[in-house]
Amino acid sequence: LEPKEEFEHSSLAVDVMRPRRGDPALAVLTQDGMTVGEVETIVESTHYSGFPVVVSQESQRLVGFVLRRDLLISIDNARKRQDGIVSASKVVFTEHTPAQPPEAPPPLRLRGIMDLSPFTVTDHTAMDITVDIFRKLGLRQCLVTHNGRLLGIITKKDILKHMAQIANRDPDSILFN
Ligand code: ADP
Repeated sequence: LEPKEEFEHSSLAVDVMRPRRGDPALAVLTQDGMTVGEVETIVESTHYSGFPVVVSQESQRLVGFVLRRDLLISIDNARKRQDGIVSASKVVFTEHTPAQPPEAPPPLRLRGIMDLSPFTVTDHTAMDITVDIFRKLGLRQCLVTHNGRLLGIITKKDILKHMAQIANRDPDSILFN
């Protein structure tokens, strides 16, 4: 996102974010509700660079963001080096580990690899403001919320694609120089 590129258009974050209507739902992790095996399944069945962490599927309240790479490395390390970590171990992103049933395997604590304050915009934030924030903060992605509930994600590539689409449709609305 070159600072020289001017982006003057009336699109909103909701027009650029994924998932689009008809796309599979946003792939999220919950802060203390999933097992190592469930997290691995989500990570391995998608190619996304990162995953928002939410309080619960029902609430969709944002807790943080974890990078795919960090998840894979941490789980791999834990399986090799940490006693008792198996597919059934609970993955915990919370500060305090919730009580586990007596026979349960030890939980895998992953709060340390989570970005606790991922950047967010609301669904009706104008895209020119969002693009400005991406440039100024050097973001790779940003999460989109509505009334505090997580709705979607916008990556740098999503923005570049969106700009290219607008430029095709309406070359005068955007100035590349
Ligand atoms: P990039 O956009 O650089 O290819 P990703 O591979 O992370 O980055 O994302 C690919 C596409 O999937 C983008 O359109 C992005 O908005 C979307 N996306 C990213 N993360 C998720 C996720 N956790 N759940 C659903 N869609 C996602």
